[in-house]
Amino acid sequence: MKEFDLNQLISLCKRRGFIFQDSEIYGGINGFWDYGPLGVELKRNIRSMWWKEMVEKRGNVVGMDSSIINHPRAWEASGHVESFTDPMVDCKVCKKRYRGDEVESDKCPACGGELTEARQFNLMFRTFVGANVDSSSEAFLRPETAQAIFVNFKNVQETSRQKIPFGIAQTGKSFRNEINPRNFIFRSREFEQMEMEFFVHPDERKKWFEYWVEQRVEWYTKIGIKRENLKLREHEKEELAHYSDGTVDIEYYFPFGWQELEGIADRGDFDLSRHIEFSGKDLSYFDPFTQEKFTPNVIETSAGLDRTLLTVLADAYEEEQLENDSRTVLRLSPAVAPIQVAVFPLHKKLKENAEKLEEDLRLSGFKTFYDDKGAIGRLYRRQDEAGTPYCLTFDFDSLEDNAVTVRDRDSMEQERINISQIKEFLSKKFGA
Ligand code: ATP
Repeated sequence: MKEFDLNQLISLCKRRGFIFQDSEIYGGINGFWDYGPLGVELKRNIRSMWWKEMVEKRGNVVGMDSSIINHPRAWEASGHVESFTDPMVDCKVCKKRYRGDEVESDKCPACGGELTEARQFNLMFRTFVGANVDSSSEAFLRPETAQAIFVNFKNVQETSRQKIPFGIAQTGKSFRNEINPRNFIFRSREFEQMEMEFFVHPDERKKWFEYWVEQRVEWYTKIGIKRENLKLREHEKEELAHYSDGTVDIEYYFPFGWQELEGIADRGDFDLSRHIEFSGKDLSYFDPFTQEKFTPNVIETSAGLDRTLLTVLADAYEEEQLENDSRTVLRLSPAVAPIQVAVFPLHKKLKENAEKLEEDLRLSGFKTFYDDKGAIGRLYRRQDEAGTPYCLTFDFDSLEDNAVTVRDRDSMEQERINISQIKEFLSKKFGA
């Protein structure tokens, strides 16, 4: 398996405009990140591939988009107010703070000092709604997108006329006041989730759980992640959340080891039952065919968009040794690449011709980029780092033969293709 230094990837992300530290000019703020021009496109592509896969291609999953701030009672019902906590310990000597379950001994990993007893720390960000700053106006920024799906279960089910089994999907920001944000965007305090809750009859839990585990692993390979870098890890009995009858994590081999990318959980009827109890509303389901009334059970697929993006970058990243040289290349799948094709003029006299070609491709729906700042070798290297699968160069011969040089990012091979056939060539390569 490939080993590399995460710092190299972090600096590439900054250099090429994928990801910046938030508020960098003020020294940054720990656990918050901003996406630049390439990062935002990569993120949009991944989110849209998730939505296509989970909602658009299926007749039995519908979408929704809820508020980030919900009624505080919803977070009591979900159990977050009481138990969405991590144990926190401090070093009595150097004052460093850790998550209690992540330090192995009672001595500080940094200085060897003695650690305090663990205290439970609630990870939800608090805020106040309205002008009064007191406990009656206290609210939370959502720590997951899932709860609003449960809260809206009846609204969505009735209006979409879905019958069980069916799912509700949502993507959006979540906030967790992590004790120790780290590993770049892997663990941050503000991040985006892509979650789907699939409502089933209690007798069908096992079947659907297995189905979704398989579907989700397959999706990661569709966005270009190598199967051998993914593995499934079943939670041990002691590790299971109190409501769960089974959880499988999809893990990826990051530069900092095997880590969770997505959790797929059999949540039983815990969520809907709790919301029935706390709201006093009937959220049960009446099956018109069997005449049975029951509280639906839930299979959840819960993925992190930023974490998936980091995985896509890590999996694509390569420092390649060439004969007399080396290069850094992102072997992104064309399905997610922020730029699919770059166009260069070989000489400034050819600027207009190259610009015209780039515009034509752009208006035909390709994600393009025009560049003429630097020698051709440097332009190629820049696009290798951006993950651009193809570069086209317009040269003096192009004026005669109406063809351009097409350079392949991965093989670095070049071939001459007639301009009239470029769109077809690219579409074939991108599987469009
Ligand atoms: P952990 O135990 O690592 O804190 P978790 O098991 O509580 O995480 P879940 O609540 O299952 O995480 O969240 C579902 C998904 O949301 C995770 O698999 C991950 O992709 C993403 N996620 C959760 N917390 C963060 C975070 N702080 N930063 C980025 N992504 C996150």
